[in-house]
Amino acid sequence: MQFIDSHIHLQDYKTRNTQQIIASLRNTGCVGALVVAAKADDFAKISALADENADWMIPAFGVHPQYAAVSGEEDMLQLEYYLQKHPKAHIGECGLDRLQEADLERQIGLLKRQMKLATLYQRPLNIHIVRAEDVISSLKKELPERFVLHSFAGSKPFLEDMLNRGAYLSLNPKVLQRKAASLIELIPNERLLTESDAPYQAKAEDIPDFIEKLAAIRGNAPEKLAAAIRDNFDRLAK
Ligand SMILES: [Zn+2]
Repeated sequence: MQFIDSHIHLQDYKTRNTQQIIASLRNTGCVGALVVAAKADDFAKISALADENADWMIPAFGVHPQYAAVSGEEDMLQLEYYLQKHPKAHIGECGLDRLQEADLERQIGLLKRQMKLATLYQRPLNIHIVRAEDVISSLKKELPERFVLHSFAGSKPFLEDMLNRGAYLSLNPKVLQRKAASLIELIPNERLLTESDAPYQAKAEDIPDFIEKLAAIRGNAPEKLAAAIRDNFDRLAK
């Protein structure tokens, strides 16, 4: 099955050479990936990977809420530099996370800054949300045209609200063990993406099996669903 990994931290693999990892992912059928940053230190590595693997990956540059306390204007200038260098790059991962120690107001400031850049440069935003649906809802008007809720595990009203606002939902295999699994049927085919969040939550190699399970829940043919996800990824990349 040809599949997409719409959220992977390739720069964080410790064990092997990254080019080898990419070669092995391609061999398993992974035909495209969004390689996401979590901090400014990742930007140069991801930029180099994008230059070497332009036919396979899209880079995403951004600062995760985990780094809100130590991230400042210098990081945002770096982010802008890499957005200009990579016209197809997304912004992410960014977001809000009440389980992180960083002060929520600081997290909100950092997110708003990245939202503005996403609108200014017309780039998709890759958003991480943990226990902060209320704040994201309150910032709805500031969301850019294209955005992805990564590792979605939210509530039904929030999902409906975000779908109305144009959200893409990137699902991680872990969702099957969470309460949000009951919401999988509510996501239209044209808004669905699949991710590993490797090397953290799952492995990219798990995605074909995950697509089979999603297809069974949703009553889709697996190959058709995989094709829809590939189309969604291409549409987002434009
Ligand atoms: Zn991530």
